[in-house]
Amino acid sequence: MQPTLTCENGRHMPDRFETLAVHAGAEPDPHTGAVVPAIQMSTTFKQDGVGGLRSGFEYGRSGNPTRLALEEAIAALEGATHGLAYASGLAATQNIFYLLQPGDRLLMSDDVYGGTWRLADKVWRRYGIETDALDLRDLDAVAAALSADHAPRMVWLETPSNPMLKVVDISAVARLAAVAGALTVVDNTFATPYLQQPLALGADLALHSATKYLGGHSDVIGGLIATRSDELAERLRFHQNAAGAVPSPFDCFLIMRGIRTLAVRMERASANASALALWLADRPEVERVHYPGLPSHPAAELVARQMRQPGAMLGFEMRGGETAARRFAGATRLFTLAESLGAVESLIELPAPMTHASVADSPLAVPPSLVRLSVGIEDVGDLRADLEVAFSASAS
Ligand code: PLP
Repeated sequence: MQPTLTCENGRHMPDRFETLAVHAGAEPDPHTGAVVPAIQMSTTFKQDGVGGLRSGFEYGRSGNPTRLALEEAIAALEGATHGLAYASGLAATQNIFYLLQPGDRLLMSDDVYGGTWRLADKVWRRYGIETDALDLRDLDAVAAALSADHAPRMVWLETPSNPMLKVVDISAVARLAAVAGALTVVDNTFATPYLQQPLALGADLALHSATKYLGGHSDVIGGLIATRSDELAERLRFHQNAAGAVPSPFDCFLIMRGIRTLAVRMERASANASALALWLADRPEVERVHYPGLPSHPAAELVARQMRQPGAMLGFEMRGGETAARRFAGATRLFTLAESLGAVESLIELPAPMTHASVADSPLAVPPSLVRLSVGIEDVGDLRADLEVAFSASAS
């Protein structure tokens, strides 16, 4: 799948993703020739007379040249016309929730990042937004929810989902939502725009925790939103400034630097994950592997249609239950036991007590025997050997 590019400032850009990832938002500086966008730290910008803005910039919270470069880049990569950057993925999520009114309903995948559910359920419910969790793979159930009295105003998909790697049909859900007058939001963090383009499939908004694959090096927290709607972009930009959860210029620079290698990192990490998923599926210690690239994945045909490749996140349930999973996760050497995902180095975690602890007693609770791997770009033989040693250690 190749993106079509339109850029916020109307510049002509090449349309192949790999080229775009390197060049979007990163034109050489016309004054200095610098090939890398400058980190502009100024918090305020000189005016030519009251209200006369020579550069279009006024105050650093409202806009900043380094942030603009990043916002142009994400718009280009998602095939959008507008990009917006935030201090974290959850700050971006919050900004999207501001589109709702008290009394509105939000329909959310029953498998999402625990923090997304916590924000909806524990914070926004207090302000009159009711969130329901549903398995959005069940299109009849989605249609029924969207035609009920007091139907949802927004549908929130995460696909592939965190941590069960469920895959939802974006275009089918977006079509149903559009007919019902609801917005479709896709958290595209796991796939990245290299593997999947939600806006081309009919979604209204694509969201990223840029902390993950876009940053790509476990050294920056950030969030991004892309849209083709002028109206939504204007409302989001108002709240971006009004609520103020914006990223620092340095953080924008780091995310831009990560984006430049996104395509090659995703190729390598996805190939590594595919090889490990096949190997894990044959291990006697493993009950079940969750990976969108396995022929046994319940949505294998949809994955082939909707994604360029299946991605680099995988989960598996250990036959020995939680005890075996805990021992296993504590026994790897190359796979670092840590939360987060999407960087060059491989990480391992147990979602139930770690990233998804906040959903323990909710419809989103996950199996305690589940191990989640974020597969990095190391040599796949070394990664396999590391897991092999951990299997031996967890059996003893
Ligand atoms: N969406 C997904 C799929 C995530 O995994 C995360 C964090 O792990 C978030 C959103 C939130 O992003 P952040 O941690 O940058 O606020």
